[in-house]
Amino acid sequence: MIPILDSKRQYQQIANELEPAVLEVMRSGSYIMGKNCHALEEELAKYIGTNYAVVLNSGTDALHLALRALDIGADDEVISTAFTFVATSESIGIVGAKPVFVDINPDTFNIDASKIEAAITPKTKAIIPVHLYGQPCDMDVIMEIAKKHNLYVIEDCCQAIGAEYKGKKVGTFGDVGCYSFYPTKNLGTMGDGGACVLNNEKLKDRIIALRNHGGAVRYHHDEIGVNSRLDEIQAAILRVKLPYVDEWNKQRRAHAQKYNELFASNADIETPKELNNTYCVYHQYTVKVPNRDAVHKLLQENGIGAMIYYPIPLHLQKVHEKYNFKEGMLPNTEKDTKLVLSLPMFAEITEEEQETVAKTLIECVEKAKDCVCA
Ligand SMILES: *Cc1c(COP(=O)(O)O)cnc(C)c1O
Repeated sequence: MIPILDSKRQYQQIANELEPAVLEVMRSGSYIMGKNCHALEEELAKYIGTNYAVVLNSGTDALHLALRALDIGADDEVISTAFTFVATSESIGIVGAKPVFVDINPDTFNIDASKIEAAITPKTKAIIPVHLYGQPCDMDVIMEIAKKHNLYVIEDCCQAIGAEYKGKKVGTFGDVGCYSFYPTKNLGTMGDGGACVLNNEKLKDRIIALRNHGGAVRYHHDEIGVNSRLDEIQAAILRVKLPYVDEWNKQRRAHAQKYNELFASNADIETPKELNNTYCVYHQYTVKVPNRDAVHKLLQENGIGAMIYYPIPLHLQKVHEKYNFKEGMLPNTEKDTKLVLSLPMFAEITEEEQETVAKTLIECVEKAKDCVCA
């Protein structure tokens, strides 16, 4: 069995650093928003290249508190993509705003920047580009549109820590960059975690207040906030791991290159493309294949842990039923939803495992051609 991700291998590599760090927190008696959280905020801001980082409980909170801090709410519209994890549009819903979905560019799976302007209305307040699978969005075009129409930009970087667009890290282009440290992400902790990164001091203070019951001063509450504090154990784990992220991303890129070579002579398997001037960090390595559901089933039967991210585009999810979004509205999104397949991808995967994955996939694509199994 080759899993899509094997978190234990990473743990075994750095257990000798992780275990004392966690033990130290347990012995310290300081468990929430202590010295590790504050140090992590500085280290993260420095790594990304922003003035500030605010650590939070999750990537979902990073998105929704960024929207809250920018005063986006009822009657506002936020432009984003339907080809993403539900948390992106959920965060728009949490603040009471309406998600407006723009189709994807099928080469990158990211929002098609050339289609954004047509979706802007007088109610539009912000754009949330999602750097899906670790591939940066076309930020020059998006920032130009945002400037022209006076819109905020909140980058969903949950799958893209370390990714770069024209030599600058994602999360540094818009008003706020949002990160998740969910265990499966490129920088994952051993529980939940997230962060906002940003340059604006006032906005930073607002997010800090919102994460702790809407007050900057203890027991003084200015607005309805949430409890989205990070705990010291997660922060200590993230501080051990952060210095390794660049190396792990480099390994992911080498594995992507290896897969590309293994599939190069196969006409049925479409390998992922990269935009010029980007540094993709391959949170997922996602191919497009014909008869995808049959191929997926055959792969699973053959011990390959491939996954479909994501099987239902967000505009067709029940949660957005009230907006009456129709099938056919986002043709590229809907088409690719039926073709994508993410293959095993993690820094520690071996060349031999990759070869097995590739060989098995090629066989399964062939087999699925004359099978009526899905
Ligand atoms: C994981 C993820 C989120 C949410 O992050 P959590 O930490 O799980 O709340 C949001 N957007 C995208 C694109 C993600 O992959």
